[in-house]
Amino acid sequence: MGFAKASVRDAEVAGRRVLLRADLNVPLDGGTVEDDTRIRAALPTIELLREKGAAIVLCSHLGRPEGRDPELSMAPVAERLGKLLEIEVRLAPDVVGDQVSEMAGELGGGELLMLENTRFEAGETEDDPALSEALAALADTYVNDAFAAAHRAHASTEGVAHHLPAYAGLLLEREVRELTSVRDDPKPPLVVVLGGAKVTDKIGTIDRFLATAERVLIGGAMCFSFFRAQGVSTGDSLVEDEGVELARGVIERAAEPGAAELSLPIDLVLGESFDAGTERRELDGIEVPDGWMGLDIGATTSSRFADAIAEGGTVFWNGPMGAFELDPFAAGTLAVAEAIAEAPGRTVVGGGDSAAAMNKFGLAGGVDWLSTGGGASLELMEGRELPGVEALLPANPATADAKRSRSRA
Ligand code: ADP
Ligand code: MG
Repeated sequence: MGFAKASVRDAEVAGRRVLLRADLNVPLDGGTVEDDTRIRAALPTIELLREKGAAIVLCSHLGRPEGRDPELSMAPVAERLGKLLEIEVRLAPDVVGDQVSEMAGELGGGELLMLENTRFEAGETEDDPALSEALAALADTYVNDAFAAAHRAHASTEGVAHHLPAYAGLLLEREVRELTSVRDDPKPPLVVVLGGAKVTDKIGTIDRFLATAERVLIGGAMCFSFFRAQGVSTGDSLVEDEGVELARGVIERAAEPGAAELSLPIDLVLGESFDAGTERRELDGIEVPDGWMGLDIGATTSSRFADAIAEGGTVFWNGPMGAFELDPFAAGTLAVAEAIAEAPGRTVVGGGDSAAAMNKFGLAGGVDWLSTGGGASLELMEGRELPGVEALLPANPATADAKRSRSRA
């Protein structure tokens, strides 16, 4: 299956300035980068552009600042990137403006300028045309490698692409290819494991896979919306009220002919509160008594889920099976992670916390594709268009020209 967008590989950028949007939204710990996975994921495109002789104006958002917030400056990110590349990465004082334009104008081939946090500008999340134009004026070519932000139509992810020849970066291209092939062309049987906090976040994905997968396994806090819908007592478990009706619909659709086999937990691990030091108890069943909350799937469920994963021709996992941040409640998530790492089928994992779990357990190397995108990977799986991908030039240059003249008109 081809990727239908023009690739940075084919972009002619020698001696030109490229505005590169990456997702460098890393966790910070007191002003330093706590986990640089996303910075490392952006390196191949940065290195390719440097090899091609482009001057790079790099930008990203970081956190959710309300206007300018020095605690969410890109400074620590620029510093870490400079260390990884072993070059100086200059930091612009703003996102756009005269001083920024001047600094961009001074860049030579292979050099890098990092813009300040794009969300310091209110126009970023509003996809403001004035900000898009100001960003575009900093460069001759745009490359979007920020897959994890591609489900947002923001100025730096979408708007700017209408003002410059716009190419897909290597990471974005690979993400779309890997995830689309699980969605549209999986080697059967397709086994989908979904967990995490909320049904409302994942209902589109559940529905899609109910129709296309062979098996859908559900764990995490999400399962309590299903249990509530079935009239099973959930005690003090985290139940998303809005999710209960949705879960009821899923249960109904799962009974229709042709639907995936839907599996819910049959045993649980309970705690008295969301806390590593809390009283812990294994429950052979799913009726949660008052005063207790379900914080993990039980051992029998874990081994059934692991067996299903081992039988998958393709396995997609999103969302932890329990409160895996708390060691006494991490076993179910670990069992799924290990089964995925050992599975003979093709394995793809998406979702911030699921990826964090794979990393925490040291199993990331056992997955065929570990997506950097949470919301973006789910929206793609649902079959929704990602604005940051849609805005890029089509792969075929003839149609690309046609599109360009249309968008200028
Ligand atoms: P992802 O980022 O992989 O998409 P989510 O953000 O949907 O996953 O969910 C992850 C969160 O769900 C974790 O913080 C985890 O503690 C929480 N969680 C999972 N199962 C439970 C549970 N049974 N009770 C409370 N919280 C849970
Ligand atoms: Mg999450």
